[in-house]
Amino acid sequence: MHAPDWMAQGQPHIWLPYAQMKTATPPLPVVRSHGSRLELADGRSLIDGVASWWTACHGYNHPHIAQAVRAQLDAMPHVMFGGLTHEPALTLARRLAGLLGPGLDRVFYTDSGSVAVEVAMKMALQFWLNQGERGRSRFLAFRGGYHGDTFGTMAVCDPEEGMHSLFNGMLAGHDIVGLPRDEASLAELDAWLEARAPQLAGILVEPLAQGAGGMLLHDPEVLRRLRRLADKHGLLLIFDEIFTGFGRTGTLFAFEQAGIRPDIITLSKALTGGTLPLAATVASDRVFQAFWSDDPAHALMHGPTFMGNALACAAANASLDLFQTEPRLAQAQAISAALAAGLEPCRELPWVRDVRVLGAIGVVELDGIADREALKRRLIEAGVWVRPFGNVVYLTPALTISDEDLAVLTGAVASVLRAQRP
Ligand SMILES: *Cc1c(COP(=O)(O)O)cnc(C)c1O
Repeated sequence: MHAPDWMAQGQPHIWLPYAQMKTATPPLPVVRSHGSRLELADGRSLIDGVASWWTACHGYNHPHIAQAVRAQLDAMPHVMFGGLTHEPALTLARRLAGLLGPGLDRVFYTDSGSVAVEVAMKMALQFWLNQGERGRSRFLAFRGGYHGDTFGTMAVCDPEEGMHSLFNGMLAGHDIVGLPRDEASLAELDAWLEARAPQLAGILVEPLAQGAGGMLLHDPEVLRRLRRLADKHGLLLIFDEIFTGFGRTGTLFAFEQAGIRPDIITLSKALTGGTLPLAATVASDRVFQAFWSDDPAHALMHGPTFMGNALACAAANASLDLFQTEPRLAQAQAISAALAAGLEPCRELPWVRDVRVLGAIGVVELDGIADREALKRRLIEAGVWVRPFGNVVYLTPALTISDEDLAVLTGAVASVLRAQRP
């Protein structure tokens, strides 16, 4: 394969994510995307098994989103959100509040998931400060969790599994424990909270599926336990639905499956259907009321430059249209069944530890992956774009993926894993 000129000339100037630049395989040059396809500069076409880090829920280049963004670009791409406002941002806020249901009412926009989590943490800390409680500076978060790459969010990721162990000594101290998966661990956590709750601002968790920390699943009962613990010990409950939101787990939001709701929720990844960066932190009225005051010092002091970007809000509104007009949740259910059937043959391989599926998330966990680059190469040779990490190979395709492309994806994963111990 001959690299295009722009790549040969630009590559010496780029710094790639999560990559040892000296030894990493060069990235694949993509020139076009459509549906579940990535078209490469050398003419190859790959089926995307990842939907670009879980963002492209409607597939690539959906004409309805493209049209909405084009119209917004002509009218007004962006204005500052400090002191100015506009229809796409307010309509999106109203629609998100409507979809999230009563008790999640106030939308604060940011432009990345990490910052949305930072804002959720800042809201929770200041919720207590504004009420005169000064000792609540810590969060309870969970092993296997991932909440972002900024310094605030690194401190609530799994300290070992995560990508940030190097910085452990420099991060704020929080309490990272195992999820209460059974009654014994629930009792243990309850007893621990009895002593520690007065130092905590809140509990932070990715509901039902912990994504970048290991693609770990838990059942809705775990979330009901966390809700009960938060209520009993007077803590705010924050759900990070940046991975799970917008149909990924089979319902529009994962928390719906538990029949309980958080006090604060973070959304991003699929919010704009994979087109533009946007994130939202949505708070309950109770949280918001703690900031509602005649005292200017009680205001939430946060405001990213590109907050409420009009192009991104227009894309998000168009994406929400598609959840109304196209059968996304039914598609997620169908994908779920196809992932379970298609990945099941992996279970008998001696180097496979677990196969698990929730909604449109399919995970094969291995004993280990000796050479991740080689595994990725073999998957590419099989015509699919899949990005294994840690010990897992996972599929999170667009919710619009065709049955045929999905069969190729699961078939490629199964045959590549069967061919040799990765
Ligand atoms: C991706 C992710 C984040 C961070 O989002 P960025 O946009 O990469 O900053 C936070 N929480 C969860 C659950 C995520 O999946």
